[in-house]
Amino acid sequence: MNIAVIGVGYVGLTSGTCLAELGNNVICVDIDKEKIDKLNNGEMPIYEPSLKELVERNTKESRLMFTTDLKEAIKKSDIIFICVGTPPRENGEADLSYVENVARQIAEHMDSYKVIVEKSTVPVETGEKVAETIKQNNVHNVEFDVVSNPEFLREGSAVHDTFNPDRIVIGANSEKAIEIMKKLYSPIKAPLIITDIRSAEVIKHASNSFLATKISFINAISNICELTGADIEKVAEGMGYDKRIGRSFLNAGIGYGGFCFPKDAAAFIRISDKYGYDFKLLKEVQKINDSRKEMFIKKIEKALWNLKGKTIGVLGLSFKPNTDDMRFAPSIDIINALQGEGAKIKAYDPEATEGAKKILKEVDYCKDPYEAAKDANALLILTEWNEFKELDLEKIKSLMKDKLVIDGRNIYNPEEMKRLGFAYLSVGRK
Ligand code: NAD
Repeated sequence: MNIAVIGVGYVGLTSGTCLAELGNNVICVDIDKEKIDKLNNGEMPIYEPSLKELVERNTKESRLMFTTDLKEAIKKSDIIFICVGTPPRENGEADLSYVENVARQIAEHMDSYKVIVEKSTVPVETGEKVAETIKQNNVHNVEFDVVSNPEFLREGSAVHDTFNPDRIVIGANSEKAIEIMKKLYSPIKAPLIITDIRSAEVIKHASNSFLATKISFINAISNICELTGADIEKVAEGMGYDKRIGRSFLNAGIGYGGFCFPKDAAAFIRISDKYGYDFKLLKEVQKINDSRKEMFIKKIEKALWNLKGKTIGVLGLSFKPNTDDMRFAPSIDIINALQGEGAKIKAYDPEATEGAKKILKEVDYCKDPYEAAKDANALLILTEWNEFKELDLEKIKSLMKDKLVIDGRNIYNPEEMKRLGFAYLSVGRK
């Protein structure tokens, strides 16, 4: 099938590349010329495991193209995926101007029947707004259908998730469009949920909000553990074996970040408000999440007393492991707060350093974890990269000025850390 993917970010690049790998002809379009030039020169604009190899293979075999020419891509395609950003506005609402802009351009250039797929995460009713916009600007007066096909991939395992999704949701009001989408996804084995557009849009917001709720729930339980002397890791294990609960997303820490959970929860609250429902539960989830960073900063202040002039090593900057994505990473607020109190920050991240440099200034970026630990008064773990779980901790200890590790992700065993001679603070554990 001939496909255009508009917006070549984490979602667009992964989806477009995987659809090409399945044998389709895919044209990926972005307004960011630098990004497109990079891709055409064989450079990856983002880090995502195993994506580079797939991009290389499919461009070589001419199934995958990168361009800024939207008109040409629209004309040559039967299916058009909208994968542009839907960032949060000041008030939490999703900024849908990028989606509207693309819808207008599709309407202007399409000259034959198209299936227009909303893959970006959008509030309920957006599909109808996209359809209205296209109808009003339909220059060549051609037939089209709008489909909601929300994306559930996780950064860090985006390629794997695209080929092995838990489900594929197709929201559409047209049988013709449903059949085309079913054919497109036929090589992928996953339950298909066929529904109306509004339900598909709510499925995405509800899913992300539920996962955010699970994280805030376990973080609230970790507070109870700290107050009572219980151990959050054992509590999560004991809860997680219950099949109705499940162990995933029960990791206590410094809270969720990234481009999805914070903005999607905020957008869901706003759209619920608009429809007249006060989503108090989700507001509390947000509050608990915001408090995680503050609590962690307080923990650091308590342990170090005065921060002025102290050197703090930081391991991990990205919002989660296996990605270079710094958007809404907890590290940003934590480092800003510590710098605000006069601490000197030395930081290391396996992939996010370049992105972090644009956001976090006055940081001494290190080439490895040992350099970050050298002469530090404390070492913070902010992202649970596997690399940090396998460090030579004796070496880390010998390099540090004060042997204090404050672990926001509970990656080490407290008994082992004590035996090694560290003062060790973690989350929800004694
Ligand atoms: P991103 O910021 O990485 O990519 C968006 C791309 O769209 C950018 O490259 C931007 O230049 C491009 N763009 C903007 N306007 C354009 C236009 N008019 N024409 C062509 N390109 C344009 O964003 P992302 O992380 O890929 O997210 C995209 C959407 O998918 C969002 O709605 C997000 O919520 C959703 N989503 C993201 C993830 C994730 O893990 N990142 C997962 C599921 C869903």
